[in-house]
Amino acid sequence: MAGGAGSGPGALPRPRADLAGLPPYVAGRPPSSPPGLTPYKLSSNENPYPPLPGVLEAATRAVAAMERYPDMGVTALYRALADRLDLVPEQLSAGTGSTAVLFQLISAFCGPGDEVVVPWRSFEAYPIAITVAGARGVPVPLTADARHDLEAMADAVTERTRVLIVCTPNNPTGPALRHAELDAFLDRIPARVLVVVDEAYAEFVRHADPVDGLRLLRERPNVALLRTFSKAYGLAGLRVGYLASTVSIAGAVRSVSLPFGVSAPAQAAAVASLDAQDLLSERVDALVAERDRLVAGLTGHGWRLPEAQGNFVWLPAGARTAELVAAAETVAISVRGFAGVGVRVTVGEPEANQRIVAALGPLARRAG
Ligand SMILES: *Cc1c(COP(=O)(O)O)cnc(C)c1O
Repeated sequence: MAGGAGSGPGALPRPRADLAGLPPYVAGRPPSSPPGLTPYKLSSNENPYPPLPGVLEAATRAVAAMERYPDMGVTALYRALADRLDLVPEQLSAGTGSTAVLFQLISAFCGPGDEVVVPWRSFEAYPIAITVAGARGVPVPLTADARHDLEAMADAVTERTRVLIVCTPNNPTGPALRHAELDAFLDRIPARVLVVVDEAYAEFVRHADPVDGLRLLRERPNVALLRTFSKAYGLAGLRVGYLASTVSIAGAVRSVSLPFGVSAPAQAAAVASLDAQDLLSERVDALVAERDRLVAGLTGHGWRLPEAQGNFVWLPAGARTAELVAAAETVAISVRGFAGVGVRVTVGEPEANQRIVAALGPLARRAG
């Protein structure tokens, strides 16, 4: 008998019907490699540097004990983070990347019918996490200069809102919130709404009033910070990120996490990375300088770009997105195109960034 739908004798297992609407997570593509050109991958906001000193050794020692489960209590990492952030370990919840932590948070706080207010366009994992929990996403369009529309986000909060997410700097567009504007915004949000501040790129912010997430956490009982070792720390392949919040919120997120989620090499590498703060800061500074050169090069060609505060630059290319992706491809660089909207270029090796300016700069839409 063909098919097998329905509940008759021939019925086959079926996933939840609402998962049919699940948006895909599009991973950044690897670059093509034409002969004679070193290929570069600028499509996933990865860090171009090798592991920080001591990190590979720490991870390797942990790999050697692969017959054992990792420390389910994530003890050493929680202790190191708590010391650094002046929190107690119970305020933390780690996961396989902060993306996993976000999924756990949404499923701990939202069920069917609950609403989650998100900026849009923003991180593509948000609508997936919301749909998986059976909740309803309430996307609030960015402003014309690709910033969060905080006014409209506050207005979007209803009785059914359980969680609200801000992403600063915003992936994929780049602008970062100011502490003062976020603080004023939070005054408008009822304390029963959990406000998630996704700080995946916080280390790269260089404006005068950066968001002080830890201060928000000290002052408000409904704030959770999401942080990751994937971007500034360069551990994307090991999968480790965390939430910092109140003991109660962190405990709820821990309660729904997969047992033994964060591998021993990931835990060890994260702890060792925290010990290499000076070199980390140097590398982040170098990437910020490269970012500013990339922005200057592109704007010099006539591109008008939104504020770039992460380790990436956003070209609002609209209908010409595919053309730009193809132009980067011809110089052996993969970038991330969002069909019909724009192109996100990760700040990478200086040679890669220069090649991007040369290839995409001249494609600027002439103003006026
Ligand atoms: C990269 C990223 C994350 C976290 O990624 P993980 O590798 O899962 O830790 C979270 N939020 C945003 C906006 C990101 O761009």
